[in-house]
Amino acid sequence: MVALVAHDNMKHDLAEWVDWNWEKLLCHHLVCTGTTGKMVAKTLLERRGESSNSRFDITMLKSGPLGGDQQLGSMIAQGEIDALIFFWDPMMAQPHDVDVKALLRLATLYNVPTAINRSSADFLISSPLFDSHDYVRVVKDYKEYIERALKE
Ligand code: PGA
Repeated sequence: MVALVAHDNMKHDLAEWVDWNWEKLLCHHLVCTGTTGKMVAKTLLERRGESSNSRFDITMLKSGPLGGDQQLGSMIAQGEIDALIFFWDPMMAQPHDVDVKALLRLATLYNVPTAINRSSADFLISSPLFDSHDYVRVVKDYKEYIERALKE
């Protein structure tokens, strides 16, 4: 599953990027935070043509500030997310700043390919690995941490 998220000031950028890459994106199951998802679905519908028979899979989570980022983080922890495109706003503090940080932390922890702006998203989607089902991400083994001895 490919996750797409954009903060409000970055949604226009993401809409343009989705418009540019719609054909590739239609080959993937997409998951989006609420408001981003509405915008992505609208862009894809316009591009694909309302009458076309080809369908696309898009899972809509809650809006980011209402828990959507946390839902996405949970999906990452479950190993359900193959790539994260997250256009976060570097110029405006967010009410859910801690959730944003948590999402980026989990993406890093689970070694999820992550793009945080248009150029990195371009690099990611143009990689042959983006459409490959053979790529296996290395995820650090936390067995030692899980089984660590705790003070009595
Ligand atoms: P939104 O959330 O797609 O519902 O706007 C994005 C975010 O801020 O995480």
